[in-house]
Amino acid sequence: MIITVASGKGGTGKTTIAVNLALSLLGASDDPTVRGRKLIFADCDVEEPNAALFLNPLLRESQEVAFQIPEVDEETCTYCGRCAQVCEFHAIAVVGQRVIVFKELCHGCGSCTLECPVGAIHEVPYVIGKIERGRVGSMTFFQGTMNIGVATATPIVRQVKHWALDDVQGDFIAILDAPPGTSCPVVESLKNSDFALMVTEPTPFGLHDLKLAVQVARKELGMPVGVIINRDGIGDAGVEEFCAQEGVPILMRIPLDRRIAEAYSRGEPLISALPEYRERFLELYHRIQGEIDR
Ligand code: SF4
Ligand code: SF4
Repeated sequence: MIITVASGKGGTGKTTIAVNLALSLLGASDDPTVRGRKLIFADCDVEEPNAALFLNPLLRESQEVAFQIPEVDEETCTYCGRCAQVCEFHAIAVVGQRVIVFKELCHGCGSCTLECPVGAIHEVPYVIGKIERGRVGSMTFFQGTMNIGVATATPIVRQVKHWALDDVQGDFIAILDAPPGTSCPVVESLKNSDFALMVTEPTPFGLHDLKLAVQVARKELGMPVGVIINRDGIGDAGVEEFCAQEGVPILMRIPLDRRIAEAYSRGEPLISALPEYRERFLELYHRIQGEIDR
């Protein structure tokens, strides 16, 4: 089972939910729906991976993530400009007797190499970040980190998921922490998930971004969706009205509580600071399972 925790906008408490759901499952070996299943946590928020701050994983392995970008042999190049014409991303330019590659813009699609009429382009690896694997007790932990200045996070998200999920044997529960928003890295994080758990605030901004996120997960990717209202009590009833209208279940509400913010600022998981939340997160997991089984 793959549960991806997402949010239309940043700062809604998405990582708090992902981390505490995972920790609650980690401590629930007596629960028959958890017992015997491998637990996996993957931080796919590669621009700002901060789940490790709360989970304190023991990191054991690291791999670079790279893709191929063009390098031009100026001896062979005729400066015909074909490579610049075919690049959709404006990542290569021919200026007089020079060809310039803007590696930060390149998506490694290979079109310029294929289209060069004189074979003046070969490809070289460009490192865009890294992925790491470790453990939090019996749970396997993965995270990706994107290098500063890199334009696309999607290949790193894909690699984190590949490492975390492709070779898992047997029954497992994977919690994925997606990046905020609704762009390509979010879609990549959500792909093939069994459930999209959307964390939102009950404000007009929260509602605006929630609508977009629900649209992506439910209508474009065809997966079941549930909502958690964080900082419940602020704002207005817009999120509730939207969920009722769209038939999106509200699976949990977390009130605005100073103690939660203080625990976060200390890097302390919510279920350690307020142990009563452990049961609530387990209940959330059971509700998700119920929604998937429907
Ligand atoms: S397509 Fe090839 S020959 Fe033409 S400008 Fe680009 S690198 Fe040079
Ligand atoms: S590999 Fe693709 S994105 Fe990169 S410069 Fe060539 S055509 Fe542009």
